[in-house]
This record gives sequence, C-alpha cells and structure tokens, in this order.
Amino acid sequence: MKLNVIIPMYNEEGNVLLIHQKLSETLKDIKYELIFINDGSIDKTYEKLEEIYNKDKSHIRVINFSRNFGKDAAIYAGMKASKAKYTTIIDGDLQQNPKYILKMIEFLEQNDDYDQVAMVNKNRAKDNFINKIFKNSFYTFINILSDTKFHKGASDFRTFRRNVVEAITSLGENNRFSKGLFSWVGFNTKYMPYEVEDRHSGKSSFNLTSSFKYAWQGIVNFSIKPLKLATIIGFISSFGAFIYFLIVIIKTLIEGSSVPGYPSLICVILFIGGLNLLAIGILGEYISKMYLEIKKRPIYVTKNKLGFDDDIL
Ligand code: UDP
Ligand code: MG
Repeated sequence: MKLNVIIPMYNEEGNVLLIHQKLSETLKDIKYELIFINDGSIDKTYEKLEEIYNKDKSHIRVINFSRNFGKDAAIYAGMKASKAKYTTIIDGDLQQNPKYILKMIEFLEQNDDYDQVAMVNKNRAKDNFINKIFKNSFYTFINILSDTKFHKGASDFRTFRRNVVEAITSLGENNRFSKGLFSWVGFNTKYMPYEVEDRHSGKSSFNLTSSFKYAWQGIVNFSIKPLKLATIIGFISSFGAFIYFLIVIIKTLIEGSSVPGYPSLICVILFIGGLNLLAIGILGEYISKMYLEIKKRPIYVTKNKLGFDDDIL
C-alpha cells in the first residue's frame, strides 16, 4: 500500500462525514487506507466513524481509545498501525486541506534525499496579538534552550517515509511532544508553506492555558537547561547576598549599628526565598516527569478496533 493517513479525532462528530468525503475524493487515484483514532470523544464521533466504516470498509480502520489520551497519543497509535510506504498525519476538523497530501507525496517521490515533509502555517495573520506573541516567544525560547531545533510554525500536518515512522514509534516515552520527536529523530525535512482554513464544525480543544501547558511540556521534555538555570541563578543571588552581607558589616563597623535598613533586609529575604522556590519548582517539574515515565504505563489504551485483523480485543 502506498499511503496511510492518520486522523486524530476528539469530539469531531460534525466533521467525520466531510473529512472522509474530501480524503476519498483527493486520494481516489492512489492505494490508501485511513486510520481514524477516536480519542475518547464524548459526542457522537465514534458512531459517525462506524457509519463511514460500514460504507467504505476497504479504506477505513478505526482505533477507539478507552478515554481521552491526547492528540500525541493518538498520533502514536496511528503511526504504530501504519504499514504503508508513506504516512500522513492530518487534523480531523478540515483546517488542513487534504489536497496538500498529494503535494507532499509528489515531493517525496521526486526527492530521494528527503524523508519527511512538514506543512508550515503561513497565514498567521489570523492569530490574535496575544497568540502571536506567545507562539513567537515559544519558538525563540525552545530553540535557545533545546539542542533539538524547532522550525517556526511547522505543524503536525506531515508526511513521512517508513524509516521515519519506525524511528518515531521506537521512542517509547510517555510524555510525547510530537513536534519535538519529529525533529529529534533527524532525517532531511522539507518545510512547505500552506494556508490553514477555518474549522468546519465544533471548536478547538486548545485555549491559551492548555497551549501554555503544552509549550511548557515541550521545553521540559526537550531541554535540561532550566535545571542548570536554577543552579546559576541560585549561585549568582547567593553571591550577591554575600557581597551585600560584607557591605553591611563594614558599614556597621564604620557608622555603628542602625535600625534603618530593615526594608532592604526584607527585600533580600523575599528575593532569595523566591529563588529557592523557583529552583525547587523546576526540580519538581523534572522529577514529576521521571515519576510518570518510570511507571512505564502504556501511552494509550484501546477499547476496540474496526477494520484490523485482530478486531476483537
Ligand atoms: N485532538 C485529539 N485529542 C485531543 C485534542 C485534539 O485527537 O485531546 C484532535 C482534534 O480532533 C483535531 C486535532 O487533534 O483533529 C487538532 O485539534 P484542534 O483542532 O482542537 O487544535 P487546533 O487546530 O486548534 O490546534
Ligand atoms: Mg483545529
């Protein structure tokens, strides 16, 4: 088979029929299979997926999670199930036009030296001011902190050759920050601009708070520099405090003891206390990640599958 398309679905009941129709139209000339992952939707997404599966069994596979495990777990499940020469990931909300899949495949067919194509969102103009600042600072930050390089605006809308899929699925970590893993495995990646469209139905699962959490997860997963930062800041501030201490002693010896100076003392205590908490907080972040990884829990749990040989679990 030539192409597997992975489509993570969380509460997309209004988009199932249309995304299936669009993908079928676009891919009609190639040998393909669609792998839908129902990521614990609480609406009628699974029923809709069953409906299209019954109509188009030769092209559709469904993995139904036991609960919501997140988009990255869904991508992982889809990649593990993919067997084709090329694997594409596309959102299920029609923001990413399927026509670009053909462009990505065409590029890989013509360029043997590339193994991965990533679509890059070019109409950022639609983002509001806060989102723009947030996204820009995320990329600046993570590229300073991490040895893995992140291409600004590169989306999860990507096509991989088999070798890349195998490399990515061989990384068994639980806290999966897919964008980081896609870069971490290396390979030659082509970045192609595209226009993001509006959601057909439903609403995005990501707001500013969850995006912030996601960005922070990316930084902690792909850099240990914040740990070093805590040490450096701690060292500098203690050194500063020591110098200040010497000044106070000398001043007291020369001018005699004075009660004024109390406010500055409080400031210093608060400042150092804050730094301590920051350092402990950063340690806690990494220890909690280690705690979660060490348990070696599966990345997702399947409730049932449609269209696979081992259908009945
Ligand atoms: N998604 C998922 N699990 C989640 C959240 C989202 O599988 O927990 C899917 C969602 O159904 C969609 C894709 O991931 O197909 C992108 O999500 P969304 O449109 O909410 O994100 P945005 O486009 O706003 O970044
Ligand atoms: Mg979307």
